[in-house]
Amino acid sequence: MVNIKDLFKNYTLNTYNRVGPVFVKGKGSFLWDDKGNKYLDFFPGWGSSILGHCHPRLVKAITNQANTLIHLPNNLYFPEQAILAQEIIKNSFPGKVFFCNSGTEATEGAVKFSRLYGKDSGRYEIITMKNSFHGRSFAGLSATGQAKYKDMFKPILPTFREVPFNDFQALQKKINKRTIAVILEFIQGEGGVNIADKEFISNIKKACQANDLLFIADEVQTGMGRTGELFCFKHYDIIPDIMTLAKGLGSGVPIGAFVVSNRIADIIKPGMHGSTFAGSPLVTRVGYEVFKVIKDDNLLAKANDLGKYIFAQFKIFKARFPFIKDVRGKGLMLALEFNLDASKIEEAALKQKLIIKATQGNIIRILPALNISKQELDKGLGILEGIFKQI
Ligand SMILES: *Cc1c(COP(=O)(O)O)cnc(C)c1O
Repeated sequence: MVNIKDLFKNYTLNTYNRVGPVFVKGKGSFLWDDKGNKYLDFFPGWGSSILGHCHPRLVKAITNQANTLIHLPNNLYFPEQAILAQEIIKNSFPGKVFFCNSGTEATEGAVKFSRLYGKDSGRYEIITMKNSFHGRSFAGLSATGQAKYKDMFKPILPTFREVPFNDFQALQKKINKRTIAVILEFIQGEGGVNIADKEFISNIKKACQANDLLFIADEVQTGMGRTGELFCFKHYDIIPDIMTLAKGLGSGVPIGAFVVSNRIADIIKPGMHGSTFAGSPLVTRVGYEVFKVIKDDNLLAKANDLGKYIFAQFKIFKARFPFIKDVRGKGLMLALEFNLDASKIEEAALKQKLIIKATQGNIIRILPALNISKQELDKGLGILEGIFKQI
């Protein structure tokens, strides 16, 4: 029989630390391996499978659309992309959407747009946050405030200025006559679920208005209901100038987008940006269905309730287990910070058929599907409790 792990080793570039068994099937918050073992997934698709695995309405939308029209390039008209764009705008802010294929491409687009915006005034510097994550292409890497992702690829774009998260004074000091934008995640995902203070965000918004800077909100991970609102900016009293999306937008189908406020959208013209695959009938039909399922199944309220429930359970763990240093989260984006190596906890959980993710050395992050059941959550929390008791 073919050994799948050998095929990976022999034929794919060695860029990932793959773990666990060979998975062959998924449904909701569960995965099955090739021996029929069932796993509970608290990190489906690194947060992208926001409706869990193989949601029946997405399967149906994909099947119908695949039988109708899969791909068209962007010099032609077709309904699905226009309808999804309208849905995104109806649910966010008055603006225009550009579709791409991933989160890093959404960053790329936001950075290119900022360059256009700053062209006449000779401005191009973008302020970014320490511990941020914005993707792996060169603009994404350059915006990312973590040396471990980019140092080996130097020289990266020299036009980004890093400041500590939640430190407005430091940010203010970096604003100069070349500054054009600020980019941030309201809740840093890869960085360990670090939540932006309300005051920090409102101060940045004021500084952006005062200095004619663009406020770029990276909602690749926080968007699509992850935090209990459709978009995380709704927890804050602001509207971004540019918002990037990907991950949950397709619930597992590769799609990204950036949204530009109507106030500035018209500066971009035909030919200035583009993508062959992006916004195809297939993926945009799926994106639209994701919005509909979130609405029809009342998943925002569910994410809020379940998020509060997990948060409370995590707090109980913290009170019981001295090696838990901190508990953070909003909606279904949550983290436990430890006084110990979190990868050991990730490994122990995998052995007990629970998928979670370690980040930043000592943090465990979970991004469960919005439609996970309380019973499934309890099962996973029970496994975690068992692991903590053994430490
Ligand atoms: C995952 C992520 C990205 C990059 O998305 P890709 O689709 O992997 O390119 C960018 N920003 C944030 C906040 C992310 O979580």
